[in-house]
This record gives sequence, C-alpha cells and structure tokens, in this order.
Amino acid sequence: MLPAVNHLELLDITKSFGSTPVLRGLTLSVQKGITTAIVGPSGSGKTTLLRIIAGFDSPDSGVVEFDGGVVAGGPGHAVPAHKRNIGYVAQDGALFPHLSVGENVAFGLDRRAFGRRAARARVAELLGMVSLDAGYADRRPDQLSGGQQQRVALARALARGPSLMLLDEPFSALDAGLRVATRKTVAKTLAETGVTTILVTHDQSEALSFADQVAVMRGGVLAQVGNPFVVYTRPADRATAEFLGDAV
Ligand code: ADP
Repeated sequence: MLPAVNHLELLDITKSFGSTPVLRGLTLSVQKGITTAIVGPSGSGKTTLLRIIAGFDSPDSGVVEFDGGVVAGGPGHAVPAHKRNIGYVAQDGALFPHLSVGENVAFGLDRRAFGRRAARARVAELLGMVSLDAGYADRRPDQLSGGQQQRVALARALARGPSLMLLDEPFSALDAGLRVATRKTVAKTLAETGVTTILVTHDQSEALSFADQVAVMRGGVLAQVGNPFVVYTRPADRATAEFLGDAV
C-alpha cells in the first residue's frame, strides 16, 4: 500500500515584513477532508499563513505542497492563486456591493462550463447549500444580514469546487446570536461537501465545535497541534495553557 499523502504540507515556512519576522519556521500537515482550526494571539501570523497557502503572498523560505505538488518555495515558479483550487472567505466576506447576490455567487463559477440557464440553476443550488432560498439571488448584498452575507461569500467560494477552503475569522464581525447560527449552517455545509478546511479563529468554542485538529500559533511557529480535546485538556506548555485559558 502507498503511504497516505497529506493534502497540504507546510515545511519550515519563514516570512518577514521588512525586518520583522512573522513566520519563523512553521511546519504543519493537513490530511484530506479534515478541518483544522488555527488559534493564537492577534498578530501571531495567522492571516499571513493563510495568505501564503492561498498564494496571495510568498514565503521567504520553506515549501508549500498542495494536492500532491509543490506550489511554493520549491525550484521553479510558484503556482499562482487562481490555479490553486482554493476557496477563501475573509472576515467581512467582501461581496461585490454593486452585484446582486446571484451575480456574486455566479462570479465564482467557471463561465465556460455553464450556459445562462445552467448557471442560474447552479447558483440556486449553491445558495441552497448555505440554506438560502433561490429568491435571495436577486437581492443586493446590503439587503442581507451580516450572517447571510457570510453564507453568500461561502457559496461564492464553493462555486469553483475548491479542494481546500480557507476561512479567516469568518464570523467575528457578527453579533453573538447570529454568530452561532451562521457557524452551524457553515459547519453543516462544509461537512456535506467534505472539503478540507482551515479556519482561523480567536473563538475557543468555535475551534472546539468545528475542528478535527487545533493548531496553536505563537511567535510565528505552532506551539501545539492536535486533537481539540487533547490541546485544551493537556496544553503543551504554560504559555499555551495561559493563552487557551485567557481566551475562553
Ligand atoms: P494575525 O492574523 O495572527 O493577527 P497577521 O498575519 O495579520 O496576524 O500579522 C502578523 C504580523 O505581520 C503583524 O505584526 C502585522 O502587522 C504584520 N503584517 C502583516 N501583513 C503585513 C504587510 N503586508 N506588511 C507589513 N506588515 C505586515
């Protein structure tokens, strides 16, 4: 039998901005289909890490392997973001305000693969996946609640059928009630699609409820990676324990 190949492999990644090192030799393996939550103090490099995985930014050194090939850091050119088959949802969703909800979602579709009618049906299907009925397609983003906008952002990101989904604090701008409801819908959608997911969050209950593995980031490296229960009940060191305790 062939050895299991990880879906995403980060090997000894470094990244500085000017003279400030942000990532200092970070290594992480992610198996296909699992959800990883990255937690850590603000400024510890979580967004920088997601941007490097997505291809929006390049590491100074180290290697990124994804879908069985080197996408950054090896010999030769890096694979550009749009060829990585990765979906990205940011904190504010970043929907196009001048386009309808349906046009926002359709933006993520491969236009050559769809006629007009098929595209409309696919948009309705994608909206259904995030528990919005097809009637929302004709609304403007500003006619939706923050939670609904984030679900549309997820539908748009899912439209290309990504094999990896990156979520950067996707619920942090929502108020508490909406956050829990939106989180449940998103978790259900992602579980149904089976897409490998990396979620950056500062919310401990989110990490616990969402993730198969938790990675604790500190000072540009991962202080601990493991099953959520193990990380929370047996933190690797005092600083990790204090961070997890403080942040609950
Ligand atoms: P986190 O997501 O954990 O809050 P970030 O990855 O956003 O952390 O930022 C880590 C550090 O890198 C911060 O000190 C931030 O100011 C700095 N940083 C991030 N992006 C840039 C950039 N494009 N130019 C300069 N500094 C940056």
